[in-house]
Amino acid sequence: MAGLIERYREFLPVSDATPIISLEEGNTPLIPAPHLSKLTGARVFLKYEGANPTGSFKDRGMTMAVSKAVEDGAKAVICASTGNTSAAAAAYAARAGIKCIVLIPEGKVALGKLSQVALSGADILQINGNFDECLNMVRYLSENYPVALVNSVNPYRIEGQKTGAFEIVDQLGYTPTYQAMPVGNAGNITAYWAGYKAYHAAGKAERLPTMLGFQAAGAAPIVNGQVVEAPETVATAIRIGNPASWKQAEAARDESGGLIQAIEDEALLEAYHLLSSKEGVFCEPASAIGVAGILRLAKQNFFKEGDSVVCILTGNGLKDPQTAMTFSEEVQVLAADGPAVAEHLGFVAVG
Ligand SMILES: *Cc1c(COP(=O)(O)O)cnc(C)c1O
Repeated sequence: MAGLIERYREFLPVSDATPIISLEEGNTPLIPAPHLSKLTGARVFLKYEGANPTGSFKDRGMTMAVSKAVEDGAKAVICASTGNTSAAAAAYAARAGIKCIVLIPEGKVALGKLSQVALSGADILQINGNFDECLNMVRYLSENYPVALVNSVNPYRIEGQKTGAFEIVDQLGYTPTYQAMPVGNAGNITAYWAGYKAYHAAGKAERLPTMLGFQAAGAAPIVNGQVVEAPETVATAIRIGNPASWKQAEAARDESGGLIQAIEDEALLEAYHLLSSKEGVFCEPASAIGVAGILRLAKQNFFKEGDSVVCILTGNGLKDPQTAMTFSEEVQVLAADGPAVAEHLGFVAVG
């Protein structure tokens, strides 16, 4: 199976001169969610972006951004990141044989993401500041020095991420009534909406979905209508106070007749736990916010019979093992003894 540039070439700004830097990203599972369907009364599906090569949807944009950077002769790429953008940039830059520089907010990047970048050989700069400050710095550096910016303000990132929408329509065989997803820097909601519109215009999708976006309550600038100076949430991937694609996210919401709402960390963590324990699907905390959002909407009788909902699970649970472990009780050590283990389990012998 070829990567997404090959599969959706006619919808992407590439030519025969573009060197395709690919890790065979995309084509991720669209998993039916029976438990969530029961709870909400809608047909719920999970688009499992954790199955991408570096474990998040960022690979969709990065295959485009790095391919175009190499086409333009770039010898280095740079990004600000809450973690997953840097993991993707580091992998695609390594594949292309070019340098990668990442700026991350000090102490706020999940362990799995940091470990990916560490092994890749990218230059990691920890900044005493938040994501928004890191983004301002990489904008300055890329404007003044010969290094290509691969954050989602790079239009090729959005182009690549549009393919998530194409895949959903292709996999379902129809356009879902609703799409639910996290909103951080707001590139992804921008890309999905652009993707649905492009597929619709090409006659490949019969209609457009309604977009449901969710921000963490401690990092909800779009919901509050003002920049959050010190964003705070357990969902580090969306710990962003001044989204670069703010206006485009509002346009996606308004044009689709949708909404962008805030979700408390507690509800987000409950959805994160439910996904693992009831659906068998392990995602990172930020990814669960769309599920928390539709569960709350369902309580308000938002969904009607026959509605379908796709939740974008943006990243793999293995990215953030530390948050998962906060749900675990201390694991007891037992003797390597069959009868003793049976007794511990409360088993009663048969016959
Ligand atoms: C980047 C990221 C987000 C936020 O996406 P935006 O395009 O910044 O809104 C959400 N979840 C995960 C896992 C991410 O890596």
